[in-house]
Amino acid sequence: MNETEQYVFDRIVRPALPVQGLTSLFPVRRIYCVGRNYASHAREMGGDPDREAPFFFSKPADAILPLGGDMPYPASTVELHHEVELVLALGAGGASLEPNQCRDLIYGYAVGVDLTRRDLQRAAKADARPWDMAKGFDRSAPSSAVARFTDAGHPRSGSIGLSVNDEVRQVADLADLVWSPEETLSHLSHLVELAAGDLVFTGTPAGVGPLIPGDKYRAWIEGVGELEGRVLPPGNRVPER
Ligand code: MN
Repeated sequence: MNETEQYVFDRIVRPALPVQGLTSLFPVRRIYCVGRNYASHAREMGGDPDREAPFFFSKPADAILPLGGDMPYPASTVELHHEVELVLALGAGGASLEPNQCRDLIYGYAVGVDLTRRDLQRAAKADARPWDMAKGFDRSAPSSAVARFTDAGHPRSGSIGLSVNDEVRQVADLADLVWSPEETLSHLSHLVELAAGDLVFTGTPAGVGPLIPGDKYRAWIEGVGELEGRVLPPGNRVPER
């Protein structure tokens, strides 16, 4: 991009996540999400985990809510759901990759929540319409800081869970993923070219459920980190960060 280029308003700043142990930030390029990647959740949503290849949807990059914190109850829903997920943070990209080429793309891991307007998703499914407004709304992707693989390794087992007001709602093990991170990235790389800065939410285990105003949630992944947030009444204004 030409540095002397003029814009009609300020250029859009790329969203970013903190990185554990660094002052530098992880710039977010795109957010991809996997549907139904734990057998238990596929079953609770009426699917058959044994027969389905991974499928993908996306959220806008600026749906990221770094480090969780306060967020207003989203507009146009009465059924906001939590989905705790392991997030892959890519430090490199590529296209049409085999699974054994994909581990090298991963810069680190984060704890994310794929917030979902379940009522809008149900209506979209019934009418065979897109999920964008059910999944890609403002602040729909709270995420922890990124744990670098050089610190965290490549976690493939360990507890993943989410509690609401100290009551455990979701708990599972990363080993229960239907498609591994490497297989997921391979599938995705045959659909789009991956690049540094991409985040991939790898799907949620069973136990998804509602968040209502006043709820506090805590999400964790063993060896990766924790994420806490609170849902405020609708229309509550939260300062820009
Ligand atoms: Mn999800």
